[in-house]
Amino acid sequence: MLEGKIAVVTGASRGIGKAVALELAAQGAEVIINYNGSGARAEEVKREIEEKGGKAETCQCNVADFGQCLEFISGVMKDFGRIDILVNNAGITRDGLLMKMPEEDFDDVIKVNLKGTFNTIRAVSRQMIKQRSGRIINMSSVVGLCGNAGQVNYAASKAGIIGITKSAAKELAPRGITVNAIAPGFVDTEMTAVLSDKVKEEARAQIPLGKFGKPEDIAKTAAFLASEEAGYITGQVIQVDGGMAI
Ligand code: NAP
Repeated sequence: MLEGKIAVVTGASRGIGKAVALELAAQGAEVIINYNGSGARAEEVKREIEEKGGKAETCQCNVADFGQCLEFISGVMKDFGRIDILVNNAGITRDGLLMKMPEEDFDDVIKVNLKGTFNTIRAVSRQMIKQRSGRIINMSSVVGLCGNAGQVNYAASKAGIIGITKSAAKELAPRGITVNAIAPGFVDTEMTAVLSDKVKEEARAQIPLGKFGKPEDIAKTAAFLASEEAGYITGQVIQVDGGMAI
């Protein structure tokens, strides 16, 4: 259980991030729900947590912006005094074939997904080092392990997150901080709802368990990695994908 822990979840206004926020709160953590544009939906997540007896706050921050991340985390420090868990979940897609991909679609995905992950880790690291404890969980993807046609930008960002995870794990381990990644397969959220039925059918055919994941499947794994029981696990990429990347 996570009683008394302070947890920051980026991109928690919907989808996987929302499920992670709900799960951490259900296990007793006080959760800071980060969002970029969807303030009203972040407030709904906060209400849902409070209705179930949990504690939560919302905070706007564009994770792609280094300065905003420093301010965001120093605000959390002022209000809560410590940070025990950071879940780097915020992410975007800008899919398209390599030959036609506009430069800004490559840059935007790298800035939010990859640099955003660096920005928040950079911002919490000093405090976690002082505490000599912390749990950092980064959302990668099976696409970061296997690649995917039409997603060079996204695959690069998610493979890069694995590089950050392993390097940060080595650097922060002597200070009692673990850093792990989750590589979800195909999860039913608004991110995947925009895909055509044909693409979804092709994806389903590649999943040995024969079904898409639910946000809660990912949330349970994140909560485990955040727990005391996972204290000897670091630098790992946990695939939660129905066997998609076997
Ligand atoms: P989603 O439904 O599109 O939600 C994305 C979340 O990220 C939203 O809360 C959004 O909030 C936030 N966000 C986007 N840009 C942001 C920024 N610049 N700063 C702060 N927050 C930002 O996506 P999802 O499917 O839940 O995916 C969550 C994570 O899992 C992503 O990293 C994604 O790459 C990864 N993933 C998803 C799948 C899948 O099948 N769904 C598979 C593998 C990995 P605002 O609206 O407020 O911007």
